[in-house]
Order: sequence, then structure tokens, then C-alpha cells
Amino acid sequence: MAEPTSFDVVIIGSGAGGAPIAHQLVLAGKNVLVLEKGPLLRTQDETADGRSDFRRDELLSTGAEKRITLDGVANRGAAYYSSHVEPDINDEPHVYRTASGDDKATIEGYTAQVVGGGTQLYGGVSYRFTERDFRLQSANAGRPLRDDPNGDVAREARDWPFTYADLEEFYVQAETLIGLNGQVAGQIKHFSKDSYQPPLRPNPISAHVEAGMDALGMTRYRTPLAVITRDHEPSGRRGPLPAAGPDTGETAKTAFVNRYGDPLGFKSSTYVALLRPILSRPNFALRPNCVVTHLECTGRTVSKVHYLDPSGTPRVAAGKVVVVACSAIESVRLLKLSAAADPAFDAAINQDGNGILGGYFLTHCFGGASALVDAPARYDKSLTLDSDWSSDHCATDEFLEANQLWAGAALYNNTSDRALPLALGRNYQSRDLDTVWDGFTGEARLTGEALVGFLGDHFGRGLSMTFMANQVPLKSNRIELHPTVKDKWGRAAAYIIKGWHPHDVAAMTTFAQVCRDVLWHGGVRKDLGAGGVYGNDDLARCANHVLGGARFGTDPRDSVLDGDCKAWGFDNLYVTDGSCMPTSGGGNPTLTIEANAFRVARQLKERI
Ligand SMILES: Cc1cc2nc3c(=O)[nH]c(=O)nc-3n(C[C@H](O)[C@H](O)[C@H](O)COP(=O)(O)OP(=O)(O)OC[C@H]3O[C@@H](n4cnc5c(N)ncnc54)[C@H](O)[C@@H]3O)c2cc1C
Repeated sequence: MAEPTSFDVVIIGSGAGGAPIAHQLVLAGKNVLVLEKGPLLRTQDETADGRSDFRRDELLSTGAEKRITLDGVANRGAAYYSSHVEPDINDEPHVYRTASGDDKATIEGYTAQVVGGGTQLYGGVSYRFTERDFRLQSANAGRPLRDDPNGDVAREARDWPFTYADLEEFYVQAETLIGLNGQVAGQIKHFSKDSYQPPLRPNPISAHVEAGMDALGMTRYRTPLAVITRDHEPSGRRGPLPAAGPDTGETAKTAFVNRYGDPLGFKSSTYVALLRPILSRPNFALRPNCVVTHLECTGRTVSKVHYLDPSGTPRVAAGKVVVVACSAIESVRLLKLSAAADPAFDAAINQDGNGILGGYFLTHCFGGASALVDAPARYDKSLTLDSDWSSDHCATDEFLEANQLWAGAALYNNTSDRALPLALGRNYQSRDLDTVWDGFTGEARLTGEALVGFLGDHFGRGLSMTFMANQVPLKSNRIELHPTVKDKWGRAAAYIIKGWHPHDVAAMTTFAQVCRDVLWHGGVRKDLGAGGVYGNDDLARCANHVLGGARFGTDPRDSVLDGDCKAWGFDNLYVTDGSCMPTSGGGNPTLTIEANAFRVARQLKERI
């Protein structure tokens, strides 16, 4: 029997921006199709042989060394290894323009290409943004700021088209349905309800961070993590996570849960939390390994979604509503490819040339400090979740006034040694996803006894503090279609053009110093360095947080989407991943993307 082609809603992408809408509309009885480019990787309880499809390490290379063979990129000929959860660089590169004007192919800016998208691989750090994060234009009106001589912040910052108070009930909904553990007390955000499950015991090495934060008078709280520690009724997942109960010793390798793909299903990806529970419903179709190539319109209506099925055969689907949620870079690319193929689509999505689509691309200002605890101390990092403690200290109005900064940062610690000794070696001095072996292979001294010594010094001893902060929005930071580099289907590759504003550099330097202070006051003395990611503009530097490029707003001349994420120029096209964000938020973005998608789902339920 032929597969159905007409639906109430067609959703492109199954990650943070897409899955909440599928979940809500399927439960409301609507006919929903999700088209997902990547495969469905199952948890171990879903497979006949009890082995998960995940390989436990998103950086695990598959196959032998390869070479970049793309024409027109400066790193043609460079060696790389494919991962099992990302596209191959030669097949579907992202291209970024370096500070010196070279174009380089990269895998940065892909979150994960699997059912569940980036939420399958993420660390699960799940902050709410602060109330101020939603109104950075009004909060900074008339304020003197460091390193912003041309008033770029005042000119370019935008308030969101809704407030924290408007989103709060959807934060509660997301936290409840996704499944988080954490602690409300100590956060500066208002919570109408505490929907967290209890956190696990922190790793003993995090006591240094606890002590450092206390010594500096910083209010701290247990980091909200998208990992269930108890039974989670909405998704039918069973707890407790082993380490939540009596110490089960060697079986409690919980560090693998919020690092890499989780074979156990405790990490609350949108697949296990939202899509798996509705998979058997007759009004839901999930089609993995289906890449959407372009959208076609008739007047103000997206009338056809063109995609390739797993065999590469062109197919078409139609929906009363079409939701694009491919993650920011790929969503912008899909919209631009559709515009390039059809002048009518072009006029509608670009609002007859307002030039906003692709502009104001954002990641996060991020960085921090890392150090080694002194020997003989050594900690087993595999027995706990990562990222134990957080603080909103750097997001308070007092801190931002004192430092003349426009927006705050979330701070949290990391305990992992990148989970495995092999990964520790492979990531040594790596600077992005494309250079995982670089530092290690370039370090000729790390062989034989010196390698054993290196692992002895580092393994079980590393402790880091991270900050995650807003990046100043600039129209010149943008996603375009690359003029010459194509993917394996002959479609233009995404072209990432992005730099840092001087105020970003000032903010990163300030936050990194606070991170270092926390470690120092916590008694960790072997300083491995502190800073932000602005140092090497030769690298794409996406932090896996790709945001903006199709921002929402209140004025069609200044935004791509209205406040409900509907494209201004269309009646039935919505974009609900991180690309809708006009500012990147002072914390990891995924919970906000999910909460916003639940908000849009409410509108769509009423509309269809
Ligand atoms: C290693 C890692 C760690 C991270 N840690 C954190 C963290 O701790 N906290 C946090 O908040 N965030 C974290 N993130 C970021 C988080 O994953 C993203 O913010 C989030 O997933 C973005 O949601 P999205 O809906 O925009 O895109 P995604 O969740 O990535 O979903 C996009 C989906 O669309 C699919 N797709 C793309 N193009 C097409 C197409 N043409 N046709 C069909 N399907 C398509 C993709 O395959 C993908 O599945 C991390 C990411 C990674 C990779």
C-alpha cells in the first residue's frame, strides 16, 4: 500500500524544535508526519540482541582515515575521520570563512543527524533563560557598556516577542514531559512549579567547585540535567538510574548517560521522551533516513515538501501546516535552497528583500577554566553524571552593572575526562570537531613512558568550569549558500560567516576569570588555563549551539517569523528550532527551544 502523502502537519527534523510539536499534535488527534534525515538509533532494551545502536562516543570514527576532496576549500587534502552520527564532510560539508578569508570545510555546526537530533548527544544541561535574556534590548537602553564604542548592542539587540512570564508555563511543561533532574533553590529565575526529579550524588571532585563558589559568596544549585533519576510516567521510562539507589559499584557507569548517545534511555532525548511514546499511534508517521530537499509554494501556502526516501527516490508530502526544525544552519539552508529554486518562495520568505534570513546567526560566547587536582587525589568520573554545580552569579543585575556587560552567563562545572582514556588522548589540545587528533599527533613527546605519565597526570584529575553567555547579534554574522561548494546531491552547502564583537571578547574574558577564581578558591592549583573561544578565528567555533538566522519579532521588516514562529510571508510555514532566536540566551539553549516548541504546539492545536 502506498504511504500516505497528506497530513495535518509535516514536521522536518525530530530534535528539540520538532519533536515537542509532533508529541502534542499527535496526542490531540492530528495526523502528523515527521521527516528525519538521520537514522533511528535504538536504546538497548529496544533491540533483539540487547545492544544499543549507539557506539557510546559521538567522536568515534568509522572506517579508515579519509581526505577532504572538495574543490574550492582551503583544507582540501586534510585528513579526517567520519563519525556515525554526523554527515561525512565530503558528502555534506558546512563551509566556514576564516578570519583570513579562506573557506574551510567543517563538520562543526551539525548537532547530530539522528532521530532526536542534537538531544541524542547533548550533555543535557537544561537551563531556563533568565527574565532579562528575553528583553536585552530594553534592559540595555541607555546603558554604558564596555568595548562597544559604536553602540552596536543598543542598535542590534532585540527583545523577544514574548516575555519569560509568557514562556514559564511551557518551561514547566517541557521539564515535566522531557524529564529533568535538578534543583530550583538557588536559581534567579521564577518557578511556578518544581518539576525536577532529585539529582544524583555529585562526583566527589565537584566538592572543589562547591568550596570555591562558597568562598566567593556565589549562590549555587545542582545543574538541571535532562536525565531521569526516577520513574518517568509521561514517557513510560523506568528508574531509578543505578547510582540513585544503593551504590551498585561497577554497574553504575552513569557518566556515559549525559555524554554521548545514551544506550540506556535515561537521558531525555526527544526520541525517548516524546517520540517513542507516540510511535504506535495510527495518526503518527515517523520516517527516518529521509532528507528534505526543498519546499514548494502556491501563493502564500507551502504546498509540497520534497524529500528523498531511504532509497534516494524523490517523494512529496503535503501538510496543512509545515514545520521546519532542522537546527539553525540547516533550516536556513533549506529555506534559502527553496528560495533559490522558486522566485515566489524567495519573495515570500525574504519579505521582498528585507535581508534578515540568514543574518544574525548566533552561537554562544563560551569558554571557562580548567585545572588538575593535586596527586595523590584521583577520582572515578564514570560513577556520576557530569556538570554537578551551577551558579547564576554572573547573570545578576549587580554583576552586569559592576562589569558593564549587556547580558549574563550561566556557570557550571564539568567533571568528565571525556569519559574514556582513549578520548582523553584523542582530544588533547583539539580545538574543534575537525581536529580531534591534532594536538596528540603533533605532540611527539607523548609516546611510551611519557604517554603513561600524561595519562597518569590527567586521568581522574581534571576539573573544569564553563560559562555559557549571549553573543552580540550582528547582521554580518550570517548563513549563506556557498557559491561553489555543493553537497553530494548537488545542492549548495551552508556557508558560515561569523566573528566576535569586542564586547563578546570582554564578556568572555570576564566570565573566564570568574571560572578560574572558583577553581582557585576551591583549592585546585594546577591551572591549565582560562579563556573564551574568540582566540582563534581560524575555527568555526559553534559550541554545538547553532541559533538565529531566521529570527522572530514583531515587525516583518526586521524579522523572518512572527511571534508564533510563523513565517511572515506564508500562511502555513513555521520554523521552530534555534534559528528563531533573536538573542542566544545566557545558558545552554535546548530547554528553551523545547519550551518554545510546546508554546507553538498550543497555537497549532487551536489552529488546525
Ligand atoms: C555533543 C553535544 C553536546 C550538547 N550539549 C548540550 C547541553 O548540554 N545543553 C544544551 O542545551 N544543548 C546542548 N547541545 C545542543 C543541542 O543539541 C541543540 O541545542 C538542540 O538539539 C538544537 O535543537 P534543534 O531543534 O535546533 O536541532 P536538532 O535537535 O539538532 O534537530 C534537528 C534535526 O533535523 C534533522 N535534519 C536536518 N536537516 C534535515 C533535512 N533537510 N531533512 C530532514 N531532517 C533534517 C537533523 O538530522 C536533526 O535530527 C549539545 C549538542 C551536542 C552535539
